[in-house]
Amino acid sequence: MLRRFAACLLVLGPMLAPVAAAHAATGSELAETRAALAALQADDLRLQSVGWRLASGNAPFCRDAPMAIGLLMQDMAGYGRPDAIRSAAGIAGDVAVQASAAGSPAALARLQANTEILAIGDFEVANLPRADSRNWQRLLTLNEHLDRALSLGPATLTLRENGVAITREITGVPACRSRFELLDNGGRAAADGHRVVIGREFAGIEYAEQEFAAAVAHELAHNVLYHRLWLEENGRKRRNIRLTEREADRLMPWLLANAGYDPAAAADFMRRWGPRHDGGLFRARSHDGWDERVDYIEAELPAIRAAMTADGQADWATLFRREIAGPR
Ligand SMILES: [Zn+2]
Repeated sequence: MLRRFAACLLVLGPMLAPVAAAHAATGSELAETRAALAALQADDLRLQSVGWRLASGNAPFCRDAPMAIGLLMQDMAGYGRPDAIRSAAGIAGDVAVQASAAGSPAALARLQANTEILAIGDFEVANLPRADSRNWQRLLTLNEHLDRALSLGPATLTLRENGVAITREITGVPACRSRFELLDNGGRAAADGHRVVIGREFAGIEYAEQEFAAAVAHELAHNVLYHRLWLEENGRKRRNIRLTEREADRLMPWLLANAGYDPAAAADFMRRWGPRHDGGLFRARSHDGWDERVDYIEAELPAIRAAMTADGQADWATLFRREIAGPR
């Protein structure tokens, strides 16, 4: 969350900096800010949509799969110039829709980008603590209210549409517990146990959707297999890192299959990404070579295809062979 906010400042900050405090934003400055916001939202939507397919499609096999609606919110307090973004988004308050993942309950309820959010259940956005240096906490609070409401039944969202407050009741569906965050700076893809974080400069973001989904699936695999927890308990020895990386690679096609993607896209991703990005010291020490990684991925495909043919789903919770005696 924190980094996400810093990231927003990075992308929109420079564009907003020339807007001198002494005069109001001109039409072209407003147009530039709108374009930057729209570009950020398009990238957010891409990640959220892929993440949603993976997290909801694999919910039957995740140990922890709470109700979710696929909604990403934005808080004006997270931007360097909240007023400029408020104007660009066309909202009066602080919180609005950033993206609704394709096919999610939020998208089906037509929660469009920049729709202002006034309340989640009984909790009014106006009751958030004043914006300060801990702004990331505000979105966390809103997400907690949303999660709690969804755990009890449909969540009631109060929105402002065409200047009028309206309410929508939205029912969640189970999704593996993981948030997906796009960072404006950096080209890394990472998982921290709770989140999958993808840098906007990550090479895989430009690949075809199912290959980008493969990269996201690798990171999600780390979370749903509780690798961080296991490494904390067993040590971040090179051998241990390699085992968790191999598991994440091998689980990629399973996660893809349950999300409705071609499981072979995991190998396609590795063939495209590997030769350019998987070299050097890093590869030699903690990861298998990219060609070995392709082999490990492809070795999973027959079992996945058999399961899909027999059951229409790939039950990795029972069929996936673990490399480590970790929790699932
Ligand atoms: Zn990894």
